[in-house]
Amino acid sequence: DALDPATRALTERREKSLGGSYRLFYRRPVHLVRGEGQYLWDASGRRYLDMYNNVASLGHCHPAVVEAVTRQASTLNTHTRYLHETILDYTDDLLTTLPAELDRAMYMCTGSEANDLALRVAKFVTGGDGVIVTREAYHGTSELTSSVSPALGSGQPIAPTARLVDAPDAYRVDTPDLGAWFAQRVSDAIDDMERAGTRFAGLLVDSLFSSDGVLPGPAGYLREAADVVHRAGGVVIADEVQPGFARTGEAFWGFARHGIVPDVVTMGKPMGNGIPVSGLVARTEVLDAFSDRIPYFNTFGGNPVSMAAARAVLDTIRSEGLQEHSAAIGAELLTALRGLATRHEAIGDVRGAGLFVGLELVSDRTALTPDRALALDVLEELRERGVLTSVAGPHGNVLKLRPPLAFASADIAWVTTALDEALTVLTS
Ligand code: PMP
Repeated sequence: DALDPATRALTERREKSLGGSYRLFYRRPVHLVRGEGQYLWDASGRRYLDMYNNVASLGHCHPAVVEAVTRQASTLNTHTRYLHETILDYTDDLLTTLPAELDRAMYMCTGSEANDLALRVAKFVTGGDGVIVTREAYHGTSELTSSVSPALGSGQPIAPTARLVDAPDAYRVDTPDLGAWFAQRVSDAIDDMERAGTRFAGLLVDSLFSSDGVLPGPAGYLREAADVVHRAGGVVIADEVQPGFARTGEAFWGFARHGIVPDVVTMGKPMGNGIPVSGLVARTEVLDAFSDRIPYFNTFGGNPVSMAAARAVLDTIRSEGLQEHSAAIGAELLTALRGLATRHEAIGDVRGAGLFVGLELVSDRTALTPDRALALDVLEELRERGVLTSVAGPHGNVLKLRPPLAFASADIAWVTTALDEALTVLTS
């Protein structure tokens, strides 16, 4: 389809001034001008259902965050080298959501910076250099984090000291005990790096395996792997950038679903509902070894405006009961999508935890053959029906359905009808 002149002009301007690394979604790019709750509006006034954005996790432009940011921005914004109560009040509050062993917090602006510091800490305290991540992991943009982010593709060099392990995919891995299966992979990777003369530093893991294709699996399956890491003297870093802040419904943090206590937890995306703020929380004994020797200052990290936004997010998750909401509506959405799977052979698997759902498209249900081409076409058809989302996983065939937590029961019909029509158009 030809682009309308306004879209074409903006697209060309963007290519000229921003360059090729900035990838756009959609063959017909969407030009958004406004957001509210789970909805977005484009320049022509058309409304969309946002099934993708876990950053505006409370909902786009949530009034509690807008108000807190406006108030703080018109009072004071500065850095962490002066005393300020907001960062301390927020930290006290944040730590109540975490296991008691995790009792120190530090703040940055992006998930990448949080993971970058987590890796520096893990390397410092262990004296090791060897990091284990999953085969399609994404952990950030910095030199250190991109070198353990195979999701960036074959152009991105992976650190020679890193080891990639297969993600625990309950749909594709045929095993009665996924926990033992994954722990064995981690154990083999530790052996392999030590044979190569690399000392083990730790496991960096997103407990929902978002870029590995959304793999909630049976809760608890990370426990054995965490034990293996600890027995080998390594650090467990839970990358909560995607699963954190009530997203998975049954727990406030993704790792908590598995009953593990990581040594370091990193967080970002939903933390400020769109205001750049990220954090790292760690056990004192792990962090102190690093902090006693190396100062850390992040110009914008932990500033009062970001902290005010983060406080409003925690308050709103509680006052609106968003964790319980995510569990209840996520279960409803799963049921509705599984209903659709009874009528569409192309839906191989539907899985989720709270409002984080993966829907896997296949060309053969018995052979589990991934259908990436169909998934990409489905995205476009959904876009034409006003539903925005994207794909994940090593085969790029898993629709990632991860709306703002404002997503309501009444929105489910929009998603399922759009998906039903898209699959009917594309597969019949
Ligand atoms: N970790 C995970 C699991 C992520 O999904 C992302 C971002 N997609 C990051 C880290 C990096 O966060 P940021 O883009 O805020 O640097």
